Amino acid sequence: MTISSGARDQGHDPGAGARRLLARLRDIMAGSGSAQDRLDKIVKTIAHEMSADVCSCYVMRAGEVLELFATIGLNPDAVHKTRMRVGEGLIGDVAAHARPVAMANAQSHPNFAYRPETGEDPFHGFMAVPILRGGRVRGVLAIQHKDRRDYHEQEVETLQTIAMIVAELVVTGELVDSRELSIANDLVLLPSRLEGISLNRGVAMGLAVLHRPQLTIRQMVADDPEAELARLKEAVESMHSAIDQMLIAVGESDSEHAEIMQTYRMVAADRGWLNRIREAIRSGLTAEAAVQRVQNDNNVRMAQVADAYIRDRLLDLNDITNRLLQHLAGKPVETLGATLPDEFILVARNLGPAELLDYDRRRLRGLVMEEGSAYSHVSIVARALDIPVVGQAADVLRRVEPLDYLIVDGDNGQVFVRPADDIQDAFSKSLAVRAQRQAEYAQLRDLPAQTADGEAVELLLNCGLLIDLPHLETTGADGVGLYRTEIPFMVRPSYPDVETQHETYARVLDEAKGKPVVFRTLDVGGDKTLPYFPELGEENPALGWRAIRIGLDRPSMLRKQVRAMLMAAAGREMRIMFPMIATVAEFIQARRILDLEVARLAAAGQPGPTRLKVGVMMEVPALLFQLDALLPLIDFMSIGSNDMLQYLFASDRGNPMMNNRYDLLSPAMLRVVRMLVQKCDAAGVALSLCGEMASKPLDAMALLGVGLRRLSMSAPAFFEVKGMARSLKVRELETYMESLYNRPDRSVRAHLRAWAADHGVRLG
Ligand code: PEP
Ligand code: MG
Repeated sequence: MTISSGARDQGHDPGAGARRLLARLRDIMAGSGSAQDRLDKIVKTIAHEMSADVCSCYVMRAGEVLELFATIGLNPDAVHKTRMRVGEGLIGDVAAHARPVAMANAQSHPNFAYRPETGEDPFHGFMAVPILRGGRVRGVLAIQHKDRRDYHEQEVETLQTIAMIVAELVVTGELVDSRELSIANDLVLLPSRLEGISLNRGVAMGLAVLHRPQLTIRQMVADDPEAELARLKEAVESMHSAIDQMLIAVGESDSEHAEIMQTYRMVAADRGWLNRIREAIRSGLTAEAAVQRVQNDNNVRMAQVADAYIRDRLLDLNDITNRLLQHLAGKPVETLGATLPDEFILVARNLGPAELLDYDRRRLRGLVMEEGSAYSHVSIVARALDIPVVGQAADVLRRVEPLDYLIVDGDNGQVFVRPADDIQDAFSKSLAVRAQRQAEYAQLRDLPAQTADGEAVELLLNCGLLIDLPHLETTGADGVGLYRTEIPFMVRPSYPDVETQHETYARVLDEAKGKPVVFRTLDVGGDKTLPYFPELGEENPALGWRAIRIGLDRPSMLRKQVRAMLMAAAGREMRIMFPMIATVAEFIQARRILDLEVARLAAAGQPGPTRLKVGVMMEVPALLFQLDALLPLIDFMSIGSNDMLQYLFASDRGNPMMNNRYDLLSPAMLRVVRMLVQKCDAAGVALSLCGEMASKPLDAMALLGVGLRRLSMSAPAFFEVKGMARSLKVRELETYMESLYNRPDRSVRAHLRAWAADHGVRLG
């Protein structure tokens, strides 16, 4: 008889059998004897209550090795002798994937690793679950039966709940010294440098604060499920009202931010999640233990899900779980500021957007995450807070101790842990120089954007969220050269309707206060995926169904987007740009859709833009050979150098192996830009460049040198580029560059840098 069938026999109360077992285990845990004695009793009790022939407990030791610590049913001499690497055999498999395994006949399974010393030969039925704590695997708990048998899902769940109790014993440090389980001690204390990716630029220094270390749950098993359910209810209510307060605080000031929080609020009210917690309480756990039990499942799912959107939602759920645990403990999150260092760096595996906002912003200097992606909600919020962020810093939680000194280099995606004095000095100096430069730059704001020899240049910003727009004011930029409409689409849980888009675009125009804004129609596909768009599994997504190709194949989408733009621009100018145009025919088709919407608006008597300017992104080399047909049809063109480089050199822009192999400052690329300058000038078409190239002072200098006078860049680069332009005698550079176009070199970067140094050009 198993617990679950026993429970079924009792009819009314399906959790009674499990509760009885949990109560026994609790008594053993609280009883006398060494940890080893208690573990021995635990496996015996589990085997008895679950009518198993074997129950074994493997504990994780240093070096990712699982050691048999206790067994009933296998050869007792194998205890402390049998060891499996993570990933080895069925036990190792459970640990490697942090998920349960149940099978009728283990011996026939290809992963079965036979260990003669255990005497496992007669057993067939096999079920094992990970022992999890704090999102990490601490061991594996397994039962076996002589017979072949199919285990019920309920049995697997029961063993998972039991494993939580066993986890308590494992993490006390009585079985295995907890220091052994962190990485080798010498590594812990030595300075080290971790590589990640940059999720937001900037440099910060401060003391490490590890994001909300796991709360210690004192009591796992409860006698009175009703009382626990009532505690849960109370904590959920108090959490909901705290989140509502947060929503009110976010208010109308920042609609994307508010939207993120709304999604978050929805997750907090998720019925399935709350029901699973209630079920775990009915099986005999305290409310805290039940929340954690469901969180364990969530962490396991998170490790297995590749889809970025679902991962983000699971992350939100994790955030909410931690919040709920705090409410259960009667320690609401609002107190988080009290004990924090004056300047701190937050270190987390991953983080929900609301969690980041829990910390005192005045003291928070930077963020480091083991996971994280550029478009996750937390990255967007961190950008709004203007703190450097490094993501995908592998192992950071194991390598950083609380209050370690950290340097976050968000420009290069690096984290220095306990840096030596010379590194600290170097970064302190660099920070001081930055601060000084910022002060100098601020003075540049009101000086004219022109070269040292008097050529006017137009300097624009690239934007994607409302929070980017105040930079128009702080930098004094001439307008927005590229508004990437896909970014607000990416942070939403579903496709926005015309009204929502209309509101967003109108807000953008309002915030721009009359400065021109170039709206690019949706540029998704390739590396930019929308959570609610189907995964196409294309072999070459960069060459696939993306940008205007989707717009033309799904004209209603494009129509609605341009309709929203036209409506938003009522009574003012509108500039619309189509991305990834490869043929003039594509432009004509897109333009026709736009014209139809213009006519529709007029027919409905609705106000439209006072003036409409239409342009294209120059990203696909084929378009270079259609300029004579294209230029008479357009008002402006913007070179997308990010994509142009990848298509010109057949070199994937996202592939690190291709990094630096081909250079934007190559004769080929510079000639392309020069040709476009000449042709556009002759045709009276306004030409700009809005790829990353325009954000780098030396590259931007070369662009001015080929004759371009309009650059659109990210806001943090603005003053560097303006400072460069104001120190440049561009006519002299134009003459010098004539000597470069025919060079056989891969890159002329070194030549340009040397010229800049010789001619006093300020490159930042
Ligand atoms: C480009 O390709 O240079 C560009 C600006 O577009 P995105 O980076 O958004 O593809
Ligand atoms: Mg592009």
